[in-house]
Amino acid sequence: NGFARLGLAPELIQAIEDLGFSQPTAVQEEAIPRALPSGDEGDAAFIDLMVSSQTGSGKTAAFLLPVLHTLLDLQRQADEQERAEHQRLADEAAARGEAPPKRKRRNPTDPRHFKAAAPGALILCPTRELAQQVAHDAIDLVKHCKGLRIANVVGGMPYQMQIARLQNANLVVATPGRLLDLQRSHQIKLDQVRFLVVDEADRMLDLGFADDLAEIHQQTAQRHQTMMFSATLAPRIQQLAARVMRQPQKIQI
Ligand code: AMP
Repeated sequence: NGFARLGLAPELIQAIEDLGFSQPTAVQEEAIPRALPSGDEGDAAFIDLMVSSQTGSGKTAAFLLPVLHTLLDLQRQADEQERAEHQRLADEAAARGEAPPKRKRRNPTDPRHFKAAAPGALILCPTRELAQQVAHDAIDLVKHCKGLRIANVVGGMPYQMQIARLQNANLVVATPGRLLDLQRSHQIKLDQVRFLVVDEADRMLDLGFADDLAEIHQQTAQRHQTMMFSATLAPRIQQLAARVMRQPQKIQI
């Protein structure tokens, strides 16, 4: 399979094979290796990317695959930390001659256990239809990734339903307006977002989302990576890019 040499996790390669993709498209070939974390684990050198490509080029998988790869990395790191912490508590208990503490599990359906959602990755789309399509593609790609959860946050869907689904989500696919509503009402916090994608940036501008995007970007984690996709790299897109990225590398397909 032509995807094997791009550096993606085996769980993702398996999903790609299930979908019947045998070769990466041009935009996938260019964007995926550059978007993947390089360097030592935990100290990845993140690169911001500005990509011009059309619908139909395979651009959705070009950002979903590196996003999901990064989430798998973050999940592995969190699991290791949790295991080490549990071991430390067990060792301390043993030194006091006590039984090891039970591992605590949060019950997301218990309102007393409510925590604001804190996804590791965020994909912003200009319209509800596009966000739903992207979330649908993400669900196809994540099927072999145990424990990675995806939530859709779009206008016009009942609030309570979205909030329930958000609770444990690692990846949120959203339209900017509804996302900011949830953020301002403390249902979601964005300070754990390590990977931000802006899809169809030209349509985002047409729909007047520039300030919303900048506000969302400011809330994300200090060290994070941004990928922006647009049909063109017109000056107005470059201006938006300058607000949400640091010295982005450009890819033109
Ligand atoms: P997009 O440009 O993201 O809207 O993708 C267009 C279509 O191409 C979608 O239906 C994808 O499922 C499909 N696709 C994406 N990547 C590949 C690939 N490497 N090989 C074959 N089909 C693909």
